Amino acid sequence: MDKAGVKMLGVIGDPISHSLSPVMHQFILSREQLPYQYQAFRIKPAQLAVALCSLKKQNFSGINVTLPHKQAVIPLLDKIATEAKAVGAVNTILFQKHGIIGFNTDVKGFLNALGDWKTNLRGERAVVLGAGGSARAVIYALIQCGIGSITIFNRTLKSAETLVCQLQSCTAFDNFSACRFDEKVLQETIFDSTIIINATSLGLFPNIEQNPLSDQFRFPESMLVFDLIYNPLETSLLRNAKAQGVRIKNGLEMLIYQGVESLKIWTGSDIDVHNYLEELKLILKQGIERDGTTSLSHSG
Ligand code: NDP
Repeated sequence: MDKAGVKMLGVIGDPISHSLSPVMHQFILSREQLPYQYQAFRIKPAQLAVALCSLKKQNFSGINVTLPHKQAVIPLLDKIATEAKAVGAVNTILFQKHGIIGFNTDVKGFLNALGDWKTNLRGERAVVLGAGGSARAVIYALIQCGIGSITIFNRTLKSAETLVCQLQSCTAFDNFSACRFDEKVLQETIFDSTIIINATSLGLFPNIEQNPLSDQFRFPESMLVFDLIYNPLETSLLRNAKAQGVRIKNGLEMLIYQGVESLKIWTGSDIDVHNYLEELKLILKQGIERDGTTSLSHSG
């Protein structure tokens, strides 16, 4: 806490200069009239342990952790929440008098971004493209929704198989299949699925022409196509799906809701962004369009 009674929050990562987190968190804190200040810190991997101690000493209430520290930070923590343990990554840290606790808010961020669609997922089939950190959070969230089965397609089969093994061992769910990415196989099986989630970085700025699926790929009419990418706001994948009349969603609301969950952990307040969600989305969209020529990092 500084002299004026303002408590401190922040995000650490490298690179960090174009993170949307300071703008997003400061906007929510001001709307909620919470006396906190949120800053970004560029921390290189070799500085991680020292930075954590220093922020704790300076009485920071908590921080977000972004690339490349989401896994590396785990051994430096005193306690790790269930979701973070299952996902194997921490994006939120709470500094307490007697220890440092790690959380993963991407799971709740994704669930909240799904909104009413969650109720359509019980017993259904989901397809996840990718097997990295965000795919783990998404898969863990789908299991919480009561999904019936999950097929993971990934360029590297081994990563998808490892992910399945790890999630099987920490959840009661075992209706997974892991496949090496093959569009033909995916096209033949997609018509049984209710949702497809792109959790690869294909299409992420600046490689906006990339698309995990070809222009010829056909989506079932009743499906939701969810791309975790929010820069650009409309990827080639989403553009193609929209042109076929399929419901689409980008990663912007997930970004917002994972941030809200971090704020709830730090402040203990019950934050509801509902009343100003559209205004916040507009501010973030302007940030993405303005900084569109540089990379943006999310704190989640
Ligand atoms: P990771 O680096 O952990 O995983 C990347 C995934 O993309 C891997 O499955 C990788 O496959 C695949 N991939 C990368 N390049 C290629 C390629 N050329 N061809 C095929 N597959 C490829 O990243 P994250 O999981 O952290 O992030 C993935 C995406 O999700 C990013 O775009 C990120 O911006 C977004 N994201 C959005 C969030 C939000 O709040 N909206 C939150 C978190 C992430 P392989 O295993 O073969 O390498």
